[in-house]
Amino acid sequence: MVLVRSLGVLALQVQRAAAAAARAVSRTAVQAKPLRQQRWASTVGEAALCSKTDMVVLRLPQSDEMRFPFVWLRDNCQCSDCFHPDSQSRTIDLQTFDINSKPSEVKVVNDFVHINWLDGHISNFSIKWLQEHCFQRDAQHLWLKSMYRLPRKTWTAQTFENILPRFQFCDVLRSDVSLYNWLVNLATFGVSIIENAPSDTTTIRNLAERVAFIRRTHYGEEFSVRAKPGTTNVAYLSANLQLHTDLPYYNYKPGVNLLHCLVQTESDGGSNLLTDTLAVAEWIKKVDAKSYQALTQTIVDWNDIGQENGNHFHSIHRAPVICENRSGEIERINFSQPQRDSHFNIPIEDVKPWYQAMDRFIAAVYSNDFCVTYKMKEGEILTFDNIRLLHGRKKYEDTGNSIRHVVGGYLDWDEIWSRIRVLKKANNSGAS
Ligand SMILES: [Zn+2]
Repeated sequence: MVLVRSLGVLALQVQRAAAAAARAVSRTAVQAKPLRQQRWASTVGEAALCSKTDMVVLRLPQSDEMRFPFVWLRDNCQCSDCFHPDSQSRTIDLQTFDINSKPSEVKVVNDFVHINWLDGHISNFSIKWLQEHCFQRDAQHLWLKSMYRLPRKTWTAQTFENILPRFQFCDVLRSDVSLYNWLVNLATFGVSIIENAPSDTTTIRNLAERVAFIRRTHYGEEFSVRAKPGTTNVAYLSANLQLHTDLPYYNYKPGVNLLHCLVQTESDGGSNLLTDTLAVAEWIKKVDAKSYQALTQTIVDWNDIGQENGNHFHSIHRAPVICENRSGEIERINFSQPQRDSHFNIPIEDVKPWYQAMDRFIAAVYSNDFCVTYKMKEGEILTFDNIRLLHGRKKYEDTGNSIRHVVGGYLDWDEIWSRIRVLKKANNSGAS
């Protein structure tokens, strides 16, 4: 029921966003100058050249005016000299491209905008294609939220149980709709559970390859998390594992963790801790701007030195705990106490303020407000966003025949996003 409800919510959000965009468009359409509409000779629309702005202006009935820069239209000409349709790739040669190209004429013919260029070149754009690629902010925003990155929904300890989506392993493997729903939920909430997975060490690989391919790191591809004596990684101890992201010392950090529980400990421990650090970061930003600034601006050295199967490694990546993109959105969280380098290559006066901010961060990520405890059951695969969540584990004691055994693997977000887009297109065109 949780799954149905959360998917319903998601579908509703998409519908609302589309309706809001439609309302925005119709609002502006209502405000458009009526004189312009009366001049329309065609029911399809009309196009004009604006030499002042070097743009083609396209007016369609019931729609806002769209503008397209000459240079962009010439660069995106869809003719076979400029564009290779089979590879869906631009082939126009930039070495001979004139960024000051100008049309001599533009007209709407049926569902196409026809452009004659001064140099004799001819372009034809379908109106549908122009609408899909237009520069209106609402349309761009809608495209980015539906095709580039899906909107994320944060959760706290209080809301976690209500949002935690659950999927059946066999459904995800057999049905493209289930696969799509799992990935969309993972993108939205940063966490989901797959149930009834076969008790087999190859299960993680099968799941990863259903999406794309397993991400290899210096620890290999699949990894077994079992208490190991003489280990080179603290994850292989049965002690408490502090909240962290995996592999912050990779520039290209693995995007999603897949943890398959084959055997759970019978002792009280062994639970996983999870914190939606996106929610924490948003909260810190509101209540303590100074700490937020230190966490987003101070560059920390993350490192990992060791060996796996005789292969020695020394990885370093330098990045703040909270990384923002150019739009100020949180893009990536880095944190791992064992894998933070003692080299701290920042001005000495910034050291103590960073520790003060980190103290605030730690108090929040472990707090009952944000941190949840989840003990995986045998046959469950806990899947979560390693770019967004912190995870940890409570200490446990293996007893007799019960040796906690978890097999893990990683997927990359680039592959997941790609898979989501391909599945969305297939689902929209009626495939299942
Ligand atoms: Zn062309």
